[in-house]
Amino acid sequence: MKIIDTHCDGLMKLQFAKRGQYGYKLPMHFRNAEALDTNLERLKQGNVMTQFFAIFIDPDVPSDEKWQHALEQIDLFYTEVIGKNPEMKHIRSWQDLNGLTDGEIGAVLTLEGADAFGNDLMKLRQLYRLGVLSIGLTWNNANLCADGAGEPRGGGLTLLGKEVVKLNNQHGVFTDVSHSTVNGFWDIIELSDYPIASHSNARAICEHPRNLYDDQIKAMLAKNGLIHVVFNPPFINEDSETASISDFMKHIEHICSLGGVKQIGFGSDFDGISSFISNLENASDYQNLINELLKFYSEDEVRGFARQNFLDHLPVL
Ligand SMILES: [Zn+2]
Repeated sequence: MKIIDTHCDGLMKLQFAKRGQYGYKLPMHFRNAEALDTNLERLKQGNVMTQFFAIFIDPDVPSDEKWQHALEQIDLFYTEVIGKNPEMKHIRSWQDLNGLTDGEIGAVLTLEGADAFGNDLMKLRQLYRLGVLSIGLTWNNANLCADGAGEPRGGGLTLLGKEVVKLNNQHGVFTDVSHSTVNGFWDIIELSDYPIASHSNARAICEHPRNLYDDQIKAMLAKNGLIHVVFNPPFINEDSETASISDFMKHIEHICSLGGVKQIGFGSDFDGISSFISNLENASDYQNLINELLKFYSEDEVRGFARQNFLDHLPVL
């Protein structure tokens, strides 16, 4: 069954390799690098039809170097992910998803944290032009748009952050709530036409600030938003670095119990996580999850989780 996955950090690892950081080294070929959970061969084996690639700027990068880091990751997306692999097709607008043929894999560029553009909306407009189709205002740290989930102050969106959500609406770009504070979440729900949680689970099942409370899940569903559940064990089982597929399925079951069966998808967070669900350790394992889900849900429902719910909730301008 074909998959759409709304979050991975492969670009971050490609940048680490280019810069020789954290033990990553060149060559790191997107096609088959062992270090990449989402390399092309693994995406093919897992039957992933479209993978989202996040531009992520580490909070430790000095402010005046953040834009350069973002451009470097975008360049790696264009040269290493797309440029060297004819099967990889850049999804520049949502309509492009319809044009994918069998054997082709769509690649969507997303932004995880407005840190990349600071307060410079010219840079944000350039990101739209370069094909960014989903924007989370923060990672876990605070920035000029909002506080992130790890910021104890817990503030919502700044005026600039609210402006960015409105611009996202105008461009048919998702606003991603996955790293938001609770206050930031409610600001986004109020303002966003296209909210998505690209990689978050249910907080009723696992108490973690990256997960969503039931009232947040209900608000997302009421707003026609998407909730893509994430494979990171600490977001599945409290204070744990291990999880089974059945532990993970409790989150799906819970979101379904709140009415979400038609709005659930997957956002693995591969290449951004260091522990894994058993039998779901990189993109090539995706069908293990599908086979397990098919024991408990109808084929139609599982196809929804895998890709169709996402396709049914695309931004329409
Ligand atoms: Zn993340």
